[in-house]
Amino acid sequence: MERKIRPDTAKIIGKSSRFWMICAILIIGILCSTVLGAWAHGKIQKTSGQLGKLNPQLEQIKTDYQMAQQNLEELENAVNSSQEYQQKMQEIQQQFYQLIPQIDQKAQENPNVKVAYLTFDDGPSGTYTPQFLEVLKEHHILATFFVVGNQVEQHPEIVQQIQQQGHTIANHSYSHDFNKVYSNPTAFINDIEQANNAIEQACGQRAKIIRFPGGSATAKGQFPAIKELLNQKGYTYVDWNASCGDGRSGYTGDQLYQNTVNSIHGNNRVTILMHDRSQATLDALPKIISYLEENQYLILPLTPDQQMVQQKK
Ligand SMILES: [Zn+2]
Repeated sequence: MERKIRPDTAKIIGKSSRFWMICAILIIGILCSTVLGAWAHGKIQKTSGQLGKLNPQLEQIKTDYQMAQQNLEELENAVNSSQEYQQKMQEIQQQFYQLIPQIDQKAQENPNVKVAYLTFDDGPSGTYTPQFLEVLKEHHILATFFVVGNQVEQHPEIVQQIQQQGHTIANHSYSHDFNKVYSNPTAFINDIEQANNAIEQACGQRAKIIRFPGGSATAKGQFPAIKELLNQKGYTYVDWNASCGDGRSGYTGDQLYQNTVNSIHGNNRVTILMHDRSQATLDALPKIISYLEENQYLILPLTPDQQMVQQKK
């Protein structure tokens, strides 16, 4: 038989169980807050202990930072003075450049004065040109680099390096493609202009001296029309009257050196053709320089107002 609970009794039971539930919650609450409080206290103590340890480190970091700031200021000052130094060097270089045509003139008037112009075609080469620049720097020599536009686009930083070292940057066409540049005189001048745009893009200056791919004789019947266009655009061109012969591969450095000496042939004014694109030429270069210096040649870079060696006039 089902036991019936009277509604009043049910109410009393309900009330007393709610009372005990509230008591239990209160007790649990007090216990929890005590435990949490103790944990938090420990945590704070631990953290402040850690902070205490960190303080000397923070001090050190602060000191290091101040020192770094001071170093930075010193570095900025040094950079500024190096900019001043570079500016001064550029001024001296400009003065030197302005003197070259006069030196050239004097040299021509005096047959005892020997002058040599080292010219490097078909670069810049990512592998070789920086090494050529190093050799020239070691010997304190300025030369002329006839760069090819499509190579300039690949190595603009090397063109900048050539410029910074004070060498003359000259134009040896954009494509160096005989079929293209000698298809007609306009194609030739367009190719030269394209190369000059690449040069300007790389180092901020335009070249005034050009060298025909293969030399001016390669232009054959188109030469007079090309020359006319070059004059209109304010270009001057130069060929060579001595060569190391590295247009053909297979020579050793010693052979290229010997070729050069043979082709100079005692001439007092030599524009020497070389290419900054091979190990053999790089090997020959210091010997060629020594030969020229021992034989009292003045080694100069080309400047636009000089008397140029021209095969075809
Ligand atoms: Zn060439």
